[in-house]
Amino acid sequence: MGAHANRKATKRIGLMGGTFDPIHHGHLVAAEEARYQFGMEKVIFIPAGIPPHKTRKDISPPHHRLEMTVRAVATNPSFAVSDLEIHREGPSYTIDTVRAMQEMYCGWELFFITGADAVLEILTWKNVNELLQKCCFIAATRPGYRLGSLDRKLGDLPPASVARIKTLEVPALAISSTDIRRRVREGRPIKYLLPKAVEEYIYQHSLYRS
Ligand code: NAP
Repeated sequence: MGAHANRKATKRIGLMGGTFDPIHHGHLVAAEEARYQFGMEKVIFIPAGIPPHKTRKDISPPHHRLEMTVRAVATNPSFAVSDLEIHREGPSYTIDTVRAMQEMYCGWELFFITGADAVLEILTWKNVNELLQKCCFIAATRPGYRLGSLDRKLGDLPPASVARIKTLEVPALAISSTDIRRRVREGRPIKYLLPKAVEEYIYQHSLYRS
């Protein structure tokens, strides 16, 4: 028997970070694909309270985004939602979230999953070096995304940090929250772009009308 035969592999957990305004099928497919490809036990969706580069006015109130996220993941037992960032005062710095999750999931390997465009700016994020030591990043890309821009931007990081950033192409990310908000504003359909429960919530609460 090999020396490591009885050693249990470190458990992995995905932290799905985003504004989710609103959450859609692209996000759900990305999370499921990341879970499968990286062997995660589960994925926790963490809607940002106030993303660091946005203001309250840019985005829908946090309780709506949280509720839509809860409804969207309800049918997948491997998915969960955390309201950690929604209830934290001030901007939602990822480092604070990762530190808190590391305490909650002591000994687990953490993966922060988010859009490649957000990861592009990672050099400007708070405590980026500590962040990349504490967790790996999965940058989900839309079809046609040019990975060269990510490689160029990350060129300033040490190679060991760059190795902690993985990319994941997700064709379903052709769906975007921006397009869904625009469609609602223009009275066009959003059916099949997001879960029915989220669609109903948007209409019930008259979100994205103006
Ligand atoms: P964003 O600028 O709204 O989104 C950038 C792009 O990524 C958009 O195309 C977006 O598409 C996509 N995207 C966002 N979240 C995604 C996800 N989980 N999976 C797949 N695609 C996703 O980015 P954001 O939502 O504000 O920020 C993303 C995450 O990074 C948040 O958790 C935020 O708190 C964190 N962040 C941290 C810092 C920091 O710590 N200093 C700074 C910036 C961002 P959709 O519009 O369709 O979602």
